[in-house]
Amino acid sequence: MPGVTHWHSPHFHAYFAAGNSYPAILADMLSDAIGCIGFTWISSPACTELEVVMLDWLGQLLDLPSQFLAASGGKGGGVIQGTASEATLVAMLSAKIKMLKQVKKDKPYMADNAAAALVGYGSDQAHSSVERAGMMAGVKMRQVASDDNFAMRGPQLREAILKDKALGLIPFFVVGTMGATAACSFDNLREIGEVAQEFGLWCHVDAAYAGSAMVCEEFRYLMDGVELADSFNFNPHKWLLVNFDCSAMWIKDASDVVGAFNVDPLYLKHEQQGQVPDYRHWQIPLSRRFRSLKLWFVMRLYGKHGLQAHIRKQVDLAHQFETRVKKDPRFEIIAPVTLGLVCFRLKKRSNEVNETLLKNLNAGGVIYLVPAKIKDTYFLRFCVCSRLTEPQDVDEAWQEVLKQTDLLLQEI
Ligand code: PLP
Repeated sequence: MPGVTHWHSPHFHAYFAAGNSYPAILADMLSDAIGCIGFTWISSPACTELEVVMLDWLGQLLDLPSQFLAASGGKGGGVIQGTASEATLVAMLSAKIKMLKQVKKDKPYMADNAAAALVGYGSDQAHSSVERAGMMAGVKMRQVASDDNFAMRGPQLREAILKDKALGLIPFFVVGTMGATAACSFDNLREIGEVAQEFGLWCHVDAAYAGSAMVCEEFRYLMDGVELADSFNFNPHKWLLVNFDCSAMWIKDASDVVGAFNVDPLYLKHEQQGQVPDYRHWQIPLSRRFRSLKLWFVMRLYGKHGLQAHIRKQVDLAHQFETRVKKDPRFEIIAPVTLGLVCFRLKKRSNEVNETLLKNLNAGGVIYLVPAKIKDTYFLRFCVCSRLTEPQDVDEAWQEVLKQTDLLLQEI
């Protein structure tokens, strides 16, 4: 297929994984065949009801705090967004409205100028979609410097908030990232959540890639403190064998989102309004597909153990690659390998030499990688992406790295 990048090739190691599996593909075909548009409960009741149940199943699979789940009988619940970017934007816009209402109530004299004074925070490792959400929401965003492990910590966030408050600004929102894109680093959610609660900020967790690993008990330490967050999002369409698009978002108090942008034309009204979710209020578009079918099919076909086995296998493959890199003194690993991503570079070599290595690797046509840069250090990212990748593929990838490295070092 000329011009098509083969994201599911076992030799594709760029970006983060894109989910795919036969049950998910079949479910999407079924969704397309049914072709309902489930913006309200009445517009296709099963579309809404299956989504409520699937987001509870999925939340339980990840061991999310019960306040996020509809099954808890509280104010929480889940929704399928198209992307993590949309989830961040929905959380940010809802937080904006919530804070503006609060200011109007507590300090009415500030209400007229409050919108221009709002400021949100993310780490310098947060995904570009966080900065972009700030642009779209029309608010200021601050990048908080991460520590030596590329993690945003509480004291640095606190300092940034205090500085802004001293300037008369209104801090309202923070994004904590689990599995940041450059090096799969993890913010300290507990510290961030505590600071957010101290200053009344909405705390959103972006776990776009890493969230899928929470199906395994041994990785749940990475989300310590998640109970302090107001919303949590990850992409089953990245690493949980569900094809694009399926971004799962949970909100602790769904009324903050539902109430933020409520419009109620007659043609969308129905008699059960208020008793069941009308997902049109939880998202940016009106129309929506029957995406919960693919979550249902994948969870039923693979089961908890099948999904855990998938994640564990991919993490193991990443460690196999890491072991090879570590054994070769010409290379260095630049960030801890926690999940399926290995970040490496030629040690004591310039960014330019590493750039050339990446260029040559991709030109070789055997494997495909993308680079990243943190604090001016350029490095190569090897991500285990395809569910078809096996140990021999990792070995072949490493042999290709060795071949291109030898050629390059002979030349310079
Ligand atoms: N957040 C993180 C940490 C990501 O790694 C990515 C994409 O890789 C995104 C957000 C954006 O995801 P989406 O394409 O679903 O908006």
